[in-house]
Amino acid sequence: MLHIHPLPAFEDNYIWVLRQEGVGTCVVVDPGDEDPVIEYLQAQGLELAGILITHGHGDHTGGVRALKRRWPAAVVWGPAREPIPVVERPVAEGEEIDLATLPFTCKVMDVPGHTKGHVAYRLGDALFCGDTLFAGGCGRVFSGTHEQLSDSLRRIAALPPQTRIYCAHEYTLANLGFALWVEPDNPAIEARRKTEEQKRQQGLPTVPSTLALELDTNPFLRTGEPAVVSAAEKWAGCALHGHREVFHALREWKDRDYD
Ligand code: ZN
Ligand code: FE
Repeated sequence: MLHIHPLPAFEDNYIWVLRQEGVGTCVVVDPGDEDPVIEYLQAQGLELAGILITHGHGDHTGGVRALKRRWPAAVVWGPAREPIPVVERPVAEGEEIDLATLPFTCKVMDVPGHTKGHVAYRLGDALFCGDTLFAGGCGRVFSGTHEQLSDSLRRIAALPPQTRIYCAHEYTLANLGFALWVEPDNPAIEARRKTEEQKRQQGLPTVPSTLALELDTNPFLRTGEPAVVSAAEKWAGCALHGHREVFHALREWKDRDYD
């Protein structure tokens, strides 16, 4: 059975460790820093067999070189459509990856927008989506476009609702604050905020979440809901047509006025 363990890094990043009971190796996702990985692997008596990279930002790749020095056999997968020097095996939409010495296969999805080549990895019901979809929110647009990010989120929204969302940052409470700006009358958001606040007070991560919960509470996945459309139109001061336009207005609204 697959075990997925979060390693907090920096202020609010998560590095995910994938392991199988009884197997002495593991794979990590987006190791922006080597120290938490080395510490955990040493404590658990594990060797590193592979590294999955979702996109090229330093808080997701900064630990790769040091980890490779320590575990030279570890394979580094990453997006083909983004130049990342530490990536050894470029991957793209539809590819299946055998995770080195672990008995798991994961599927690659192209989810550009936050960056132009961002990928996500699907292992059964688990989705490692980096900075594309966050719990209660989504990534900012850097080297990709708003249209790309909107389309990528639509594709994620179409996955099975039980899909678990393993994103790369603990931004949930701040994101839900904005979600309440957009939909102050959505009781699911207020209820979620209470639940997530309790987790944070106990020092627990709010992730993974489920796609079903995101569909109910995350404004960036609700760009077809009348209440979200009208809130976005009110902010933009004009009529908006379709998911892309509503998404673009929401993203700018949050960037300019909330963050
Ligand atoms: Zn990023
Ligand atoms: Fe990040």
